[in-house]
Amino acid sequence: MAAETNRHGLKRTIPATVKREVRQRSKFGCVICRSAIYQYEHILPEFKDAREHSPDCIALLCPTCHSSVTKKRLPKEVVQKQYEKIQREASTAPPRDNEYFVNHYQNLRVDIGKSRFNEHRAIINIDGTDVLSYKKDEDSGGYVVTGKFFDSNGNKLFEIIDNEWIGPTDIWDVEQEGTRLVIRGGSREILFDALKNEDNATLKINRLNMYVSPFHIVVDKDRMIVRQHADDYSCAIDVEVEGDFNYGDCAIYLDSSETKKPELGDVKIVGGKGVWIEGTGIWFGFGNQGSRLRKVGVWNEGCEKRPSKKIHKSIYPSADQNYFVIGALETRLKKHPQWTEELFYLNGQQLDSRPCSWGVIGIEDKNKIELFHISRQEPEDFAVNNGFVGFYADDVLEQEWSDKVFEAEVLCEDEESHSYSARVKIADIGVREVIARINTQTGKPFHPQEFQGVTPWKQESE
Ligand SMILES: [Zn+2]
Repeated sequence: MAAETNRHGLKRTIPATVKREVRQRSKFGCVICRSAIYQYEHILPEFKDAREHSPDCIALLCPTCHSSVTKKRLPKEVVQKQYEKIQREASTAPPRDNEYFVNHYQNLRVDIGKSRFNEHRAIINIDGTDVLSYKKDEDSGGYVVTGKFFDSNGNKLFEIIDNEWIGPTDIWDVEQEGTRLVIRGGSREILFDALKNEDNATLKINRLNMYVSPFHIVVDKDRMIVRQHADDYSCAIDVEVEGDFNYGDCAIYLDSSETKKPELGDVKIVGGKGVWIEGTGIWFGFGNQGSRLRKVGVWNEGCEKRPSKKIHKSIYPSADQNYFVIGALETRLKKHPQWTEELFYLNGQQLDSRPCSWGVIGIEDKNKIELFHISRQEPEDFAVNNGFVGFYADDVLEQEWSDKVFEAEVLCEDEESHSYSARVKIADIGVREVIARINTQTGKPFHPQEFQGVTPWKQESE
């Protein structure tokens, strides 16, 4: 049995905050082989010699790579170097797990909120694309799960290809603890939370916050709500369903071609092949052979504003760039025997030095929200932070803000060759056709703060 404490009196249990930082710095996978099945390992010094649980000295290792270290086939120095490299590099291979979605069930049931979906080909399908589906594997008798999930801003969150889960590297937190998988966009923002239960042969989705225009699927513990927005986000219809659905094609089927501007008076609940909320493009238990509805709620909502388009993807500024983050700065004091050190945290992430504020944007939860210019000496993965708004090249910092062209409107094509316009960063334009570098609504160049609906240089009128 492992001792409870080492010779320095250090407990074996690693504090939760240190574990999260180790996950973030390891980019949610084994630092050697990128497996998402991992343990927390003291590298140098080893646990027996360690005096503290420092995220500098702990990395994620999978059981196989850990065993190679124990057997001295893989030197600890190599692990340390690899851990440091992953923290530095702009793009890292995604974490992968070929166990979590493997199942040996005879009859797989997927629970979403309090609803149960027995034996459906697909759990969620949006405009013909399966978000989550499973098919019986005749050889193994189990199921093969495939899926593609999006976050609350419509960005791809993760993928499952033939049972293999391919996770994000550029999110706030991904945690696998036993049979639970949780992905967080921030300390209070759960984007996905699933629990696998071999005994009941169920996969239970407890939390989901997924946006694929014009639909928003929100699962929050017991409730499952599908929202359809108007194109201009002026209003929306929310549909909440709870029931049991058996043997069908698709559990939640969403068809944007059936949508119109949501009006409560136009909504009809039509039974037959599942439950169709006519007027919204929302079906539950599509093509199934029997549903028992316990609860259906339909209501409309005025949408004050479009869901905020937060940018927190892996955008890594190169050496001559600077980047900007909005958030609340927190100063923590660390007491040393002779002096007190100030530590700076922005949106929960530690900075090496006090960031430079470009102005106050608002007050939220008693915290002052400011736009900060982050020194390029800070760790690169700071750009993963929720408050990340963009980066500029050095020279534009010396110009008026209206000249700081951050992004442009370009012509894009989707998978089915429909063209649409999108706003992308100048650096991401590639071969696409530039439509405009000026935002026609403001008559000014597109600006990073427009993503957040804030402009620190002028007073907000409301
Ligand atoms: Zn490994």
